Amino acid sequence: MRRRPAAFAAVLFALPCLIALVAGSASAGDVVSRCGESVCCCYQRTQSSGWKVLESKCFRIHYVGGSELAERLVPICERNCHDLRSRWLGVVRQGGWSVKCDVYLYPTGAEFERRSRFPQQMWGVADLSVGDGRVWMRRLHVRTDDRDKLENVLVHELTHVVLAERFTDRQIPRWADEGIAVLSEPAERREHYAEWLRQEASSRRLYSLRELTRFAHVPQGERQSELFYGQSGALVEYLLTERKLSEAEILKLIDDVQRRGWESAVSKQFPTLSSVRFESEWRDWLLSRPATEIAASVAPSASAFAAP
Ligand SMILES: [Zn+2]
Ligand SMILES: [Zn+2]
Repeated sequence: MRRRPAAFAAVLFALPCLIALVAGSASAGDVVSRCGESVCCCYQRTQSSGWKVLESKCFRIHYVGGSELAERLVPICERNCHDLRSRWLGVVRQGGWSVKCDVYLYPTGAEFERRSRFPQQMWGVADLSVGDGRVWMRRLHVRTDDRDKLENVLVHELTHVVLAERFTDRQIPRWADEGIAVLSEPAERREHYAEWLRQEASSRRLYSLRELTRFAHVPQGERQSELFYGQSGALVEYLLTERKLSEAEILKLIDDVQRRGWESAVSKQFPTLSSVRFESEWRDWLLSRPATEIAASVAPSASAFAAP
């Protein structure tokens, strides 16, 4: 995700890490819903700067060529966005965004790189402009040449787009942003991480939670970055499923970790636990959880491509 300040904001947030919808000067919500559905997926066809566009309540999907994929993506984006906002931010009303999300679909890596100016290895990127208490721009650039990856990438990056709504004056900590995004992805990726983390934990090669929560950027190197994504996702999952924190409580803990550091925030949240004990119990959980529990525990409420 890349997060950049609004034109006048003083602080620069520049992060390598993915979205899209409609038009012009209008704010989100100008596609009139007459369908009566709780999550409206109606859209209208427009055009913009050489792109064909499908504009729905919260998104503008930009594409070239045939419209079949873009048409499928409208309900996927609207429903996942609605689920994420209601789950993490408590926003149950669809729409009401300061600005719609513009999603750009690229048929090849070369096109992705040429038009988005992000490296094609990223597969997708959320490009956000945030500051002074609001989100000013939401863009999501995505490659569409691997349909299996597309689902993971869309949901992951959409999570960054949604979480940015709550962190408009200061940057969300990296572990929290990536941890919640990984948790939102379909179960297969978390299963992959679970198996791998089990091995890393038994070899004592994990980042300490203190280290993990202090990274300002995703660490460089394939192993290091994967460990960071995997551990961050597993930490949020553990807080949710084993420590029984609600999503709102997790966001509050994230604020607290940012303010007072990991150890102090954990001791405050769990008065009967030291941070050392919390960490050792977390490692035990990584080593022992059955794979079958992983898929069931935190499955996204809407599987992207199962949506009609
Ligand atoms: Zn990410
Ligand atoms: Zn509708």
